[in-house]
Order: sequence, then structure tokens, then C-alpha cells
Amino acid sequence: MTNAGIVDPVFAVSAESLPSLPGVAFEVIRLVEEEEVDLDKIVATVGRDPTLAGRLLKLSNSPLFGRTHGVTSINQALMLLGLKTVKMATISFSLGAALGGGAAAEGRGEEFRGFWRRSVTSAVAARQLVCSQRPDLEDEAFLCGLLQDIGFATMLHCGCPGGGFSPRAIDAGHPEPAAEQAALDGYTHADVSAQVLESWGLPAVLCQPVRHHHDPDGLDANASGETTQLTRVLNLAHDVATIVTSAASRGPALKAARDKAGRWCGMDAPAFDAFLEGLTEDVHEMAGLMEVDVGSRDDMAAMMARAQEDMLAMAVGATRELEQTQSRFEELRTKAETDGLTGIRNRAAFDELVAEQWEQRVSGAAQTPIGLIMSDVDNFKVFNDTFGHQAGDEVLRHVAKTLEKASRSGVDIVCRYGGEEFVVVTPGAGYEELEAIAERLRAAVAEMGVATADQGILRVTSSFGAAWLETIPEGMTTSHLLAVADRNLYLAKAAGRNRCVVSSYD
Ligand code: GH3
Ligand code: MG
Ligand code: MG
Repeated sequence: MTNAGIVDPVFAVSAESLPSLPGVAFEVIRLVEEEEVDLDKIVATVGRDPTLAGRLLKLSNSPLFGRTHGVTSINQALMLLGLKTVKMATISFSLGAALGGGAAAEGRGEEFRGFWRRSVTSAVAARQLVCSQRPDLEDEAFLCGLLQDIGFATMLHCGCPGGGFSPRAIDAGHPEPAAEQAALDGYTHADVSAQVLESWGLPAVLCQPVRHHHDPDGLDANASGETTQLTRVLNLAHDVATIVTSAASRGPALKAARDKAGRWCGMDAPAFDAFLEGLTEDVHEMAGLMEVDVGSRDDMAAMMARAQEDMLAMAVGATRELEQTQSRFEELRTKAETDGLTGIRNRAAFDELVAEQWEQRVSGAAQTPIGLIMSDVDNFKVFNDTFGHQAGDEVLRHVAKTLEKASRSGVDIVCRYGGEEFVVVTPGAGYEELEAIAERLRAAVAEMGVATADQGILRVTSSFGAAWLETIPEGMTTSHLLAVADRNLYLAKAAGRNRCVVSSYD
């Protein structure tokens, strides 16, 4: 969000149209915040609003707060709930009145029901989610959860531009931020919500999380730990509300919520699922206390079940996608390591494989000798000049196949080194075995005939230079062994070609 600063009321919602708390609520907030708290005055003030008094009493007897029945006076309720809870509960319980109650909601019951269902769910969820890390913030989390979307209700309430969003869009996890900002001169419902809270004189620790509940990363870098935790919990509570209240696809919200619960609240997936399971009951308990309509329990339970199904379907889809990605990756890897002309491994694959073999021996993981054979087709320039490049290509394909066939299958590694040069790694072969393999390769190439349509059967020979190592001396690299093999190949050429020169490294 770009306009994260103070919202100019002119742009969003004019100050007069903001919902205002009833006088009693304001008075309670003021009294609770006084330095010398006067309990009697608070009791007297609450008593002026019988509805509020009744709800606070009910709350103090509610299993949600772990209370046993038997609280019968406001005085007792105050002692049990504590001043902070009373303050937050007073604001919560006054919300209906602040939003104009039944009168303003006339004919818009469905929209307001959606708003309440979402808000009460967010509030109950936020309160429970914050508990694992910061139990001291449970009242703040509840109130912020309840108020985070009050911007929408405000707009519905006063007929502001944002009120034009369909209730379904709000319920289904909100309109697209871009559409929202376009309708609200660059602001979002979260800005309007924060504006309402500010107009009620609530502290920044409540206003900031509400303003940033859709972009926790947009919080000021110096934000306090409380603000950060509350903002994250609100963001997660929003996902939770989407999962249990919206008709839209809930699978992605469930997945996102599980990730966040793990990262921010230290809850693993089973713990988070258990929390979700218990949520419906708690939301209805709280909705009952607040006397707001959130729809039926069964509806919410069904929503939750559907979210689980969506998630499962998504998991299946993700597995399939992963498999596809992996096989594509394998395909690319194979392609990168395969020589285009001959279809055997290329130089890059050779470098990698020989380094692997080397490392195994240096580390002691493998304790067998290693051999390397370099081969080069004899007089291949002349061959090309005589029979043509295409015939030359065909010969190279045959040489590759022949070398593979004549080497130890599944053990020796045959690669095209480049041009008409091939290289064979012989892990584990003893010195005599290496000599035998090199000779076998030479004979196989010499015996090979390449049939052509118009040039008869074409033949070539190759020269071979091999190097062998029992164990790898300290500090020696693969290029040393390659250099010996290369020198031996040169010696084989010099000695008349179509022959092998093998030596051990020394
Ligand atoms: P020597 O016995 O000393 O190795 O002689 P040579 O002619 O084989 O050696 P030189 O290095 O002079 O020439 C290598 C030839 O191999 C020249 C080049 O055109 C040919 N060559 C390299 N790669 C390919 C290829 O992919 N296809 C074909 N057809 N020819 C290739
Ligand atoms: Mg060459
Ligand atoms: Mg050659």
C-alpha cells in the first residue's frame, strides 16, 4: 500500500460520516485510562447503559473467558475481567450502536450479516492466535480483529464510494486492492478502518495494526514488537475469516494461513487445524454475547469442511505440478549433459562425473584405482575430405556406440570430449584391466564398419592413450591425469596410430 501515512479524512470518509461511539462507551474508555482509576465511577457509568451492563455480565460468565457462572454484579465483572478487557469489550459491544444498529442496516441485513460474521470471526481468531506468543495482547487482538474491516461497514453505513462494493466481494476476502484504491482515491478499507479508530481516540498500538492488516510488510521499520505481532495476527485472522466465512475458493487461504501460523505464531499444521475446528463454536458464543447475527453454525461448519476439501484438491494439484517440474528438470539436465550428435554424454557431463569420482577417492569414500582413456579418430580430416562431413558424422555416431558397447556396461563412463575425441573413465579397473579395456576399444573401432548408400562400407581407426592411478597423491587434480592420457595418445599417434599407449601416473 502506498498511502500508508495519515489519511486525510477528505479523501476517504468525511469526519462527520464516521460512526461514533455512544457517550457511555467514550466515558468508560476515558475513566479506564485515568491515572487514578475510580472503579465506582466506571460501575456507575456502565450502569447507565443496561444493554452494555448486561453484555459485560454475560461476558464475565462466558466459557470463552474461562469463567464459571456466578458473576452477578458489574463490580464483580470488572474485577474478573480486568480494566483492559472491560475497555475493549465496551468498545466491541457498542459497535452495533455505533454503526446505527437496526435502523441503518434496514434492508441491508445480508450485507451487515456478512460484515459481522467476518468481524467476529477475525476477532475471536485474532484473540486465540495472539495467545501463543503474546497472551498479554489478547484484548487488543480481539478489538483489532473486530474493527479491522469497520471501514467497509462505515462505507456501507454512510453510502461512501467504497460502499459500492458488493457485499459478496467484501465477504469473500475483499475487493481487489486496486479496485478498492481506485474507488477510494488511493486508500483502502484498512485506511478507513484506522481512521475510525483514530477518531475514537484509540492508541496507535490499535490503529497501526488495523491500518496494515493487509500489508504487514508495510509497517514502519521501527514499529514496536506489539504492533508487529498484532499486525501479523490480524493478517492471519483475515485469512481465517476468509476460510470460514467466504463462499470463494478457500484452499489458497487455508494454505497461506497454515504457513503464516507456523511462521508467526509457532503453530504447526495439526495445531492450526485444531484451532480452526474449535473456532465455529467460539465465534457463535461471542456473536451471541454481542447479539449480532453471523448466520448458522452449520453454515460455518460446512464452509470449514469445504476449505479442507479445497486444500486437499490443491495439495493433489501441487504434487502433480511438482512431478511435472521435476521431470522437466530431469529432461533439461539430460539435455544439458548430452552430446547432440552422438547422444552420449558430453564434455560438461564428463567434467562433472570425473570430479565426482575424484572426490570420492580424495575423501576416502572410494578406495579403488581410477583410469582414464582418451581416444582420437585417426586421420579424420582426410576422412572428411574424402567421404564428406555427413559420412564423418555418421562415423562419429558409430564410434560412440562402439565405445559404449566395448566398455564395461554400467561401470565405465564414455563421453564425447569434443570433435573426434572421446574419453572413457574406468573407475575401479586395475592396471592390466585398463590395458585390456583400451585394447578392446581399439579393436572394436577398427572392426567397425559403417554402411552407406553410395560409398560402401566405411572404416576408421582410433588411437588410444590411457593413464592409471592406484591412489590419488595429495594435491593432484583431474587435469594431471588427463595430461598423462593426452601425452600417451600423442605417443600412440606418433608410433603409427591405431594403437594404445597406457601408463600409470608417476
Ligand atoms: P590425427 O590422426 O592426427 O588425429 O589426424 P586428424 O585428421 O584426425 O586430426 P585433426 O585434428 O587434424 O583433424 C580432426 C578432424 O576432425 C577435422 C575435423 O573436421 C574433424 N571433425 C571434428 N569434429 C567433427 C564432427 O563433428 N563431424 C565431422 N564430420 N568431422 C569432425
Ligand atoms: Mg583430434
Ligand atoms: Mg584425429
